[in-house]
Amino acid sequence: MSEDRKLTLEDFRAETENLIEVRNLYKWFGIKSGVFQRVTGHVKAVDGVSFKIKAGSTMGLVGESGCGKTTVGRTMLRLYPPTKGEMLYRGQNIYNADGRTMRTLRAKLQMIFQDPYSSLQPRMPVGEIIGEAVREHGLVPENQLREYVLEIMNESGLQPHHIDRYPHEFSGGQRQRICIARSLALGPEFIICDEPVSALDVSIQAQIINLLMDMQEKKKLTYLFISHDLSVVEHISSHVGVMYLGSIVEAGPKEKIFTETLHPYTKALFSAIPIPDPSFEMHRQILQGDIPSPSNPPAGCKFHTRCPECMEICKTEVPEWKEYSEDHFVACHLYDGVGKDAKPIVKKDVAMDTAKKKTAKKEQNKKAKNKE
Ligand code: SF4
Repeated sequence: MSEDRKLTLEDFRAETENLIEVRNLYKWFGIKSGVFQRVTGHVKAVDGVSFKIKAGSTMGLVGESGCGKTTVGRTMLRLYPPTKGEMLYRGQNIYNADGRTMRTLRAKLQMIFQDPYSSLQPRMPVGEIIGEAVREHGLVPENQLREYVLEIMNESGLQPHHIDRYPHEFSGGQRQRICIARSLALGPEFIICDEPVSALDVSIQAQIINLLMDMQEKKKLTYLFISHDLSVVEHISSHVGVMYLGSIVEAGPKEKIFTETLHPYTKALFSAIPIPDPSFEMHRQILQGDIPSPSNPPAGCKFHTRCPECMEICKTEVPEWKEYSEDHFVACHLYDGVGKDAKPIVKKDVAMDTAKKKTAKKEQNKKAKNKE
């Protein structure tokens, strides 16, 4: 075992730099029409996204369905060719990598998909599914491959006798374990988890989340965790980015995003998190209007057509991406002229609600523990 492996995850994070950096990433899909199938417009699925992920940490990416979260993940790994931008892994822009380099990088950069069944080859037994790419990359000698696959299966919570079974013989949770095992077998450093638990029962969700967290601790993995389930994201992430219509509108450490919420969209999103306490009064913010089309996003702030705090400037000028407090970024005109260490200039009503919810949750957990 290497010296690195003895470090705790916290030490590892403190000692290492950003493993991943996404710079100004765009992914536009052409809209073709007419007899000659000319491109007459674009769906701006990802429209200038930038963020960094420190080695050993987890960044949660949240937002409504269709906001571009999954497209960000797929474009990062070149499953979709990017329109513009950079994706740096250990300082190297993978979009400039040639075929041979990209092949090596594929082992280090993995993805776990939402639907475990459709991402598994139904005609292959589990051992083959997990071992196939290991053999392709020549990571383990052929005579040790079965033993290696069994070891990975054991780490992922699968039984040795599962090795010869087919995907249809497993439950949803076990299939997701197979997908995780297949990713881990290649010795990755960075895994994009694209809604990995949203198709599973709640009890199974917890098991898969715990497995991902255990593997992160053990193998010092870095995750981008894409989800619309805010409670799950709060549990697993160290940093959170909030997306709206192809752009990140707020990002920062989890604690700040959940208790010092700044952007009106984030506030509306978080106001919908249910608190299992009948004495707690919910102040849910219902956003008016439909989500605008990503092929024709509104001018100025993209959220202005639904924002309860919209001002005249919001309709014409795109808000700047600014650092409100240490490592906490927001794009909103409400914070114009406000920078690091400055006082907020808006009412923090919903942010306060979120803080109260956290306190109520803690109190409830305490009571439950006392009862035990
Ligand atoms: Fe609302 Fe204006 Fe802020 Fe956009 S910039 S979120 S419209 S207040």
